[in-house]
Amino acid sequence: MVGSHPLSKKLTTINTFSLLKSCTTIKHLKQIHAQILTAGLSPDTLPLLPTPLASFSLSNPLDIDYALSLLHPFGPTQKQFIYNTLIRASSKGPFPQQAFSLYTHMLKAGVSPDHLTFPFVVKSCGRICSLKTGEAIHGSVVKFGLEIDSFITSSMITMYANCGSLDRARKFFDEMLKPNLVSSNAIMAAYVKSGELAKARRVFDEMHERDLVSWGTLISGHVHCGESKEALEAFRAMRDDGFRADEVTLASLLSSCSELGALAQGKQFHAYVYKHHIHLDTILGTSLVDMYSKCGGVEIAFRLFCTIPSKDTLAWNAMIMGLAVNGHGETSIGVFLEMERERKRPDEVTFVGVLCACSHAGLLDEGFKQFDRMSSVYSIKRGVEHYGCMVDLLGRAGRLKEAYKLIESMPIEPTPAIWGALLNGCCIHGNLELGEQVGKTLIKLEPHHSGRYVLLSNIYANANQWDDAKRVREMMREKGLQKAPGCSVIEVKGHVHAFVTGEKEHPQMRQIHAILEEVGKRLALAGYAPDASRVLFDLEEEERENSLLYHSEKLAMAFGMISLEPGVPIRVVKNLRVCGDCHSATKMMSKLFGRKIIVRDRSRFHHFEDGSCSCKDYW
Ligand code: ZN
Ligand code: ZN
Repeated sequence: MVGSHPLSKKLTTINTFSLLKSCTTIKHLKQIHAQILTAGLSPDTLPLLPTPLASFSLSNPLDIDYALSLLHPFGPTQKQFIYNTLIRASSKGPFPQQAFSLYTHMLKAGVSPDHLTFPFVVKSCGRICSLKTGEAIHGSVVKFGLEIDSFITSSMITMYANCGSLDRARKFFDEMLKPNLVSSNAIMAAYVKSGELAKARRVFDEMHERDLVSWGTLISGHVHCGESKEALEAFRAMRDDGFRADEVTLASLLSSCSELGALAQGKQFHAYVYKHHIHLDTILGTSLVDMYSKCGGVEIAFRLFCTIPSKDTLAWNAMIMGLAVNGHGETSIGVFLEMERERKRPDEVTFVGVLCACSHAGLLDEGFKQFDRMSSVYSIKRGVEHYGCMVDLLGRAGRLKEAYKLIESMPIEPTPAIWGALLNGCCIHGNLELGEQVGKTLIKLEPHHSGRYVLLSNIYANANQWDDAKRVREMMREKGLQKAPGCSVIEVKGHVHAFVTGEKEHPQMRQIHAILEEVGKRLALAGYAPDASRVLFDLEEEERENSLLYHSEKLAMAFGMISLEPGVPIRVVKNLRVCGDCHSATKMMSKLFGRKIIVRDRSRFHHFEDGSCSCKDYW
């Protein structure tokens, strides 16, 4: 092996350096090391050896014995430098506990730790969530007189927060005479990890200076807490403050756009990436794919996906799921097959996407095939989501008894969501017998979930069993259950407008109502009449008291019609499932007004065009 390597008999420092740079395995490193020793070189090349060793430890366990053997020829200063290099690398790699072992060896060898040692030893304690070790290291920091170092302090704050001791982190912060930027960012991040956004915001507001990290932490905090609008507002304030978003902050912001269905805003971020020459790495590329998919722009998502040079599993998963929920089941399966051809290993999330694609497109045979392959070919354990997709798929095909049998055969406890998928199937196919049984099971499992009562009462109403339907409604009222209000959002000219069912507050409400009345008239002329039973009962989780005409998505759609240019698709995001009446009415509206309408509800997209919907009336 050694002989075959292009090492000349006389190694120079320069070619040793280039060899070490190209070194990718520990075996190769040891060969070079042996060559240096046997070639009798001057020791000036030896300090180069720990560098590749440190980079290996970013992805593999460090060979500590070998690392220690490299230290022998050096004096205390060089030893300290090498220990620090290895500790820093270990603290970032998958085996952070090794940083602590190296630190112990360092003390035993009589080498003093310094201000570059502790931040990474402390970080490792935080990563392994060992409060006890963290406290011991804290003691050493004080012993070595380094407790005033700002980087060490901020790493302590993060460590205490990671170990679940937010109070200690705060105490540490409060005891600082002059909290600086690094420590303020650390305590802010600590509050954001634990969901205490208000406290994080207070720290942010009290900071005398802020940097990109402070802004990025605030933005990601809003995103994590589901405050998408606030995240976008924080971005604008950050821009006004003269800061430019980096890849990480942009990825956070894009997920806010996805949440809100804010396509125009998302496109602006996409343009921002190009304008500021921000590197479109796999994470940012995937965030864009996800944003476009979730904002109903799945074609752009697909084009963008094709340009990502090295796609990881996350990127493939985002595209497969994006196509699936937008009703492009066959294309989604096609992307999955391409992933397999490129020998990328799918994971359990990939199969949720694949089965979801089959379920949304009604591909029963393909669904069964992939459900089998995920376990037989890839040994991936089937989870509730996978079973949920299969129950949905069978329900769509009207094979309700098989769906029931599949639930019964599950090796894991079926969740209410799975029974809910079956109940939905029973409701759509009008299977009173099974629907009644499943509905009762569900109410027993979740006695406080209003939607379960609504679906059961719908089943009775569809079978004209009005007394039973009313009885279920009364049961629900007696329990004092509140239904979640329907809420729909639409983005117009970069601003997100939210509508709640029955809403009266919007400044343009008079025009919105005028449009809806006009829609009502034109629908009536076209022969459409809302189903009386549905007016009473098929309200899903919407307020029964509000007329069907004022369901939140109808308000948002009407607002879209008056504020968007003709020909521009209307995109609405709704928090609940679309009700049957709104679905029929929207189909009709897309035909009458010649307009594409895209509604994203709780679980999928409805692309309405020319009188039909991409969900093929099963949702
Ligand atoms: Zn509705
Ligand atoms: Zn639909």
